[in-house]
Amino acid sequence: MNRVYNFSAGPSMLPLPVLEQAQRELICYGESGMSVMEMSHRSPDYEAIINQAQADLRTLMNIPDNYKVLFLQGGASTVFASVCYNLLTGSGKADYIVSGQFSKKAAQEAKKYGDIKIVASSEDKNNTYIPKTCREDFRPDADYVHICFNNTIYGTKYNYIPDTGDIPLVADMSSCILSEPVDVTKFGVIYAGAQKNVAPAGLTIVIVREDLLGKCRPDTPAMFDWKLMADNDSMYNTPPCYPIYVAGLVFKYILGLGGLNAMKAYNENKAAVLYDYLDSQSYYTAPVEKDSRSMMNVTFVTGNPDLDKKFASEAGKAGFKNIKGHRSVGGMRASIYNAMSTEGVEALVKFMKDFAENNPKA
Ligand SMILES: *Cc1c(COP(=O)(O)O)cnc(C)c1O
Repeated sequence: MNRVYNFSAGPSMLPLPVLEQAQRELICYGESGMSVMEMSHRSPDYEAIINQAQADLRTLMNIPDNYKVLFLQGGASTVFASVCYNLLTGSGKADYIVSGQFSKKAAQEAKKYGDIKIVASSEDKNNTYIPKTCREDFRPDADYVHICFNNTIYGTKYNYIPDTGDIPLVADMSSCILSEPVDVTKFGVIYAGAQKNVAPAGLTIVIVREDLLGKCRPDTPAMFDWKLMADNDSMYNTPPCYPIYVAGLVFKYILGLGGLNAMKAYNENKAAVLYDYLDSQSYYTAPVEKDSRSMMNVTFVTGNPDLDKKFASEAGKAGFKNIKGHRSVGGMRASIYNAMSTEGVEALVKFMKDFAENNPKA
């Protein structure tokens, strides 16, 4: 077995101990005589798995009792629509901050359902920063404000939580959930596709404040109705059983490391290895403004598209996979989620130094 350094933006690395445990339990889970993949979601074994996963996520994120945790299907992109069915039902107005492609897509989807205002955007500088907002920027009667907390493609992250007053704040945390503690009470809804930092693709986590439930549009498909899902403990229909099981293993793994404070310390130190190097030289440039840098997705360019291409190709051959930037940004992107080791980032920096030396700019 020869595992590479996988810098994929998603689906992405999982912690090796989690994969090993899943492997040990793959064919026969506990005393059940079957794989988790083969289990009825209504069986006592599976109920224990999903209940424990929820309890551990609540502990990890310090989720208050007045929030529901939903394990759904459909990915973050489904939530772009389901948030409208559930919340865009008072004034029918919602305010969006556009800080990248996913927040833009979320706003575009929402426009089908109501009066959507883009209150701030970073598109003027190719999304290399997080827009600053204050409470007065938002319409007082908006049903919610939507943000994308970590912008996977551009490598930016909110270093503050926008003050929206009494308006519920809805945050897409697909690429930063569980990377550090967040104050859940500041949000009405937190959601995330699991395939970046939590589990295999197929699971979507929605954390929603209870008082926001039960107001959905009359034409809401049952599968989009978060109250129905909450009332049925995410078992209205068959949930994504196996990804929930792996998510549960990841939750236990992070708890074992010391929880999200420990995870944050590890991630900060790991990201600093790369950012400190980027700041110390002039061969590569990091386009993101310093106070908006993501701890999970680090973007950089050589300034020469041919060199960028060569970098990604040689990096791949040297065992640093999926380092090519998103097609809309170019350059390189190292996604260094929880499961990426500091050693992996140190090895990448060494490769970057060697590449710079061997490929002088004209
Ligand atoms: C990957 C990603 C999405 C899209 O997620 P899907 O689960 O593929 O729908 C949305 N938002 C962010 C921030 C992402 O990183």
